[in-house]
Amino acid sequence: MADIIVARATPPGGGAIGMIRLSGAGSRELCAAFLRPAPPERAREATLVRALDGENPLDQLVALWYPEGESYTGEESIELLCHASPYVLERLIEVCVAAGARRALPGEFTQRAYLNGRLDLAQAEAVCDLIAARTKEEHRAAIRNLEGGLSRRAGALRAGALALLARMEAALDHPDEDVAQLRGGELRAEAARLAAEARALAQAGARSRLAAAGARVAIVGRPNAGKSSLLNALLGRDRAIVAPEPGTTRDTLEEPVDLDGLRAVLVDTAGLREGCADAAEREGVSRARAALRGADLAVFVLDQTAPLNEARAALEEVRAQYLREQRPLLVALSKSDAASVRVAAADVGGGECREISSLTGFGIAELAGDIARLIAPTESSTGVAVNERQAAAVSACAEELEAASRESAPELSAACLSSALRALDAVVGGNAADDVLGEVFRRFCVGK
Ligand code: GDP
Repeated sequence: MADIIVARATPPGGGAIGMIRLSGAGSRELCAAFLRPAPPERAREATLVRALDGENPLDQLVALWYPEGESYTGEESIELLCHASPYVLERLIEVCVAAGARRALPGEFTQRAYLNGRLDLAQAEAVCDLIAARTKEEHRAAIRNLEGGLSRRAGALRAGALALLARMEAALDHPDEDVAQLRGGELRAEAARLAAEARALAQAGARSRLAAAGARVAIVGRPNAGKSSLLNALLGRDRAIVAPEPGTTRDTLEEPVDLDGLRAVLVDTAGLREGCADAAEREGVSRARAALRGADLAVFVLDQTAPLNEARAALEEVRAQYLREQRPLLVALSKSDAASVRVAAADVGGGECREISSLTGFGIAELAGDIARLIAPTESSTGVAVNERQAAAVSACAEELEAASRESAPELSAACLSSALRALDAVVGGNAADDVLGEVFRRFCVGK
């Protein structure tokens, strides 16, 4: 029988209410040692009780009892909602420990929920992602997987591979030459179809990870085009120095930002220009080029108060690079409030243009929307988010399925399929190895 674990579920620091939770058979009885009255055996009924520290009152709190099979962990559990005094919370845990409970390890409640079949591994990871979600997009991805999005996709893949393995083994058991020949081709085609599905699922990971880490958006252009002003306008505060002299920004400057619910990192760069005499500025330009190489999207700021010819070469350089690598590029036509030359999309070689003024705020929200649209993960094809560990497992599964589809010897093909199934265990669990479980649950905080 599993021991009773205890931990606080609310973070340290201020707040009115703090929560301690216990899980394990006998939790209620354990609490009866220091709660007056003992929490009644009525499922999920909030009851006001007093907690005693020896003979002395420690707190007045609300206790909830969850019978086995009706709690988060699947075990009998107790939740104690006390006042959020750090002393009360810590002392309550000590009282529970004195009564026979053990302090929980990080993620141990969720690990028990997993072991008791309340959640599969993909859902357990989604709990962790949900707790960590800071933007609308991260929240959407996490809640989808908690509701079983990834589990269903990986489960369908697993069911397909399992059914294929069964058919292969049946073919092995009845090696009727002609039939086996015929089936061989059919089975290999099915393995190839499943492999393609696994590849698509693994690739969804790259896009969802982009959303999680934040796409990198490089703000580039000629000196004085208004790049730093745009960074400040997008951030809604004065982060970068804005000056009328060209060449103020020498180093690249990075700032995280939430754009329409998407996490992104804005990178302000030194103005792109050739033949600068100043060594620091030259270094700035080379850093700007490095930022361009590392970005997921570039915003080229084109000054509408300066002759267009000056910027043309720099714009063409960036456009050629981004087009070649199929990365999105936006042209921000800046300083619309003072524009002396009206630049049209056609003048800058087509592509997406947006007129803005960082001074008046004109077009800034729209530009933020354009950026968000271009960096948004295209989840619609898969509908799920896949983290790095899960993507690696699904890729390994795809490789085994591909090998199975190439293999003409049915025994070897069946062996590849078995490996493909084992690789998938690291996503949804089932027979996941202990080190996989350790890796997953280490990410959690104590109390979850
Ligand atoms: P950077 O060198 O490209 O980073 O350009 P800055 O943001 O430092 O701006 C260069 C100059 O252009 C400064 O004098 C800014 O005040 C001015 N500037 C930037 N944005 C605007 C704008 O929207 N309207 C006007 N009128 N001036 C701007």
